[in-house]
Amino acid sequence: MAHIAIVGDGPGGLSAALFLAKAGETVTVFGTDETALHYAYLYNYLGVAEISGSDFQRVARDQVTSFGAEMHAGRVATISPADEQFRLATEDGIEVTADYLILTEGKNPALAESLGLEKTEEGIAVDREYRSSLDRVYVVGRSARPRRSQAIISAGAGATAAVDILSRESGKDYQDWDSPPD
Ligand SMILES: Cc1cc2nc3c(=O)[nH]c(=O)nc-3n(C[C@H](O)[C@H](O)[C@H](O)COP(=O)(O)OP(=O)(O)OC[C@H]3O[C@@H](n4cnc5c(N)ncnc54)[C@H](O)[C@@H]3O)c2cc1C
Repeated sequence: MAHIAIVGDGPGGLSAALFLAKAGETVTVFGTDETALHYAYLYNYLGVAEISGSDFQRVARDQVTSFGAEMHAGRVATISPADEQFRLATEDGIEVTADYLILTEGKNPALAESLGLEKTEEGIAVDREYRSSLDRVYVVGRSARPRRSQAIISAGAGATAAVDILSRESGKDYQDWDSPPD
């Protein structure tokens, strides 16, 4: 079982956390719930007629924790690669070591830049699975595509990165498919 650390608790980070925790991986999400969504009112999230950004966040956080993801209400100050893992330290002294990193810092990807990840004119460089230039580090949402800032785009990116990690861990394409209960 892999340990995945997710920096950022907006729709990108929480979507990744949902897929990973639901699959039984160990997931730690860092964030202080300061997403831009608290200024939003959503009419453009497919499957949801309308919802305030704050209500969306509350439902999403409950959904993620119900599957066992751990949420840390703190800012990550530093990340250092360590023996094929990553050591994260928060401003209030919490330390976690993880096998994969998903960075969803929003419009200011300071930690992604501190790791020296390659950039493009638009943002942090990623491939279509949201893999960055550093192995096992993913960058999703506004940090990777600042000009495409929509909640559902960030959530889709988080899901894509999570399914890629689950596929790598299982050694085959991973599908998260459920059927209606009896
Ligand atoms: C006024 C306004 C209205 C909007 N209306 C809509 C709308 O109607 N529909 C729509 O689809 N989108 C809307 N948006 C855009 C939407 O809010 C963003 O597209 C979305 O929030 C991006 O999600 P994200 O996960 O990529 O990043 P964010 O939501 O920005 O989340 C990043 C999170 O990471 C945290 N973070 C950053 N650094 C660290 C660190 N070092 N340690 C821990 N945590 C960290 C931040 O505090 C934040 O909570 C609106 C935005 C604004 C400002």
